[in-house]
Amino acid sequence: MVACSERLAASPVATWEGVSGQMNISVIGTGYVGLVTGAVFADLGNEVICVDTDAEKIKMLNAGKMPIYEPGLEEMVHRSIDDSRIAFTTDLGHAVRSSEVIFIAVGTPPGPNGEPDLTHVIDVARGIARHIDKYKVVVNKSTVPIGTGNLVREMIEKNKQRDADFDVVSNPEFLREGSAINDTLYPDRIIIGAPSQTVAMKLLELYAPLERPMLITDVTSAEIIKYASNAFLSAKISFINAIATLCEEAGGDVLQVAKGMGYDRRIGEHFLQAGLGFGGSCFGKDLKALIHTCSKLGCDGRLFESALAINDTQPVRFVNRLKAVLDSLEGHKIAVLGLAFKPNTDDMRDAKSIDVISRLLAEGATVQAYDPIAMDNCRKIFPQITYCENPYQAAEGASALLLVTEWNEFRFLNFEKIKEAMKRPVIFDGRNMYDPQRMRRLGFDYYCIGRAANHARQT
Ligand code: NAD
Repeated sequence: MVACSERLAASPVATWEGVSGQMNISVIGTGYVGLVTGAVFADLGNEVICVDTDAEKIKMLNAGKMPIYEPGLEEMVHRSIDDSRIAFTTDLGHAVRSSEVIFIAVGTPPGPNGEPDLTHVIDVARGIARHIDKYKVVVNKSTVPIGTGNLVREMIEKNKQRDADFDVVSNPEFLREGSAINDTLYPDRIIIGAPSQTVAMKLLELYAPLERPMLITDVTSAEIIKYASNAFLSAKISFINAIATLCEEAGGDVLQVAKGMGYDRRIGEHFLQAGLGFGGSCFGKDLKALIHTCSKLGCDGRLFESALAINDTQPVRFVNRLKAVLDSLEGHKIAVLGLAFKPNTDDMRDAKSIDVISRLLAEGATVQAYDPIAMDNCRKIFPQITYCENPYQAAEGASALLLVTEWNEFRFLNFEKIKEAMKRPVIFDGRNMYDPQRMRRLGFDYYCIGRAANHARQT
């Protein structure tokens, strides 16, 4: 199914059936998005060149090692290396000259006032301009502020050194770290914001083998779709966290409330899990960017500001509740399980563990942490805490154990062993992972989010 915007519908409506062809493509930026995109397109039979300015990353990839952890990625990349369908280089010129479609997948970190820093995107646009030699489709996959498609077009037009045509397309990415390969192979939708139907067809051809719903629209709408989607999901998380606080104060159970809400198909059950809030490199950054754009355009951004403010409050409440239970955190050993911003990734960007650990340390506690994958990345942020080999070692002598990231392996711990190791049997479950009754039966003082019976009042 392919839907067309009115503006593009003048041309015949395209369908993906029977349209598919292998292409020479390059992906600029070999991070979570770029590497996964490159790996999947290569796996579909395209010739892919992945480019990065980070020579160390390229060296690792050329040695068959993955610079990031993502389930299934290594096997997929190795397959394409063996079949010579994927190459890794720092040579942007070679990649541009060799490709008909060039994806931009570089980082767009938040600037000081919330506006995304477009330095990397602009560098790539200038680089493409330097090397473009014949017609290319330049596809922006990075999450960029509304209007960046035009900016990229202008940058290439102004700086190009040869008489070569090109078009700029917006193709926002929706993959989630931890399930990035699956999300790229089976996306809910593929958004193609193109200046004309002919250009859109090029992308449609590339994505055709996935046989997923595609929406062909204009560049600006595609850029807004990305921000609107992430803002909606963030707001849904903050909504249920606001309700969780209400449950704690009023005497309700947020799990029951979320279930009751989620049965309504207009609401749906997804993203209604109360907890420490959202982290990662996207939601917070994209909300800030949207707030910035709203203020620039004179639109009301208060809904997005509230979503952000509620999210920032979650770890503060969590640590304050712990403090209320232990009286003071000074001198206490605290076990922290889970450091990555979510399970199945090594990504620590904007992880809730950073807020929680910073507060614990500021209150005079010492931290013993364990994460299955993210400890090396966390060491760069907190060299001063103790990293443990397993959850049991983290629990050794601890006055409380904090569940911060809901890795599956924490679901079935030997709690007898945990309790024996701890100084005090206190568990703070930041993701509502455990059954409160079972925890109490096992002899723990158990606290979670939005379940009144387990509420510790703040001081
Ligand atoms: P990342 O930081 O993991 O990777 C970006 C890569 O770009 C890095 O390897 C960096 O070295 C490289 N780079 C920077 N400047 C470069 C240049 N001039 N030339 C070549 N390479 C360059 O970032 P990411 O998480 O992959 O995110 C990329 C974009 O996709 C961002 O805009 C992000 O908001 C968006 N996005 C990310 C996710 C996600 O889950 N990570 C999901 C959807 C969208």
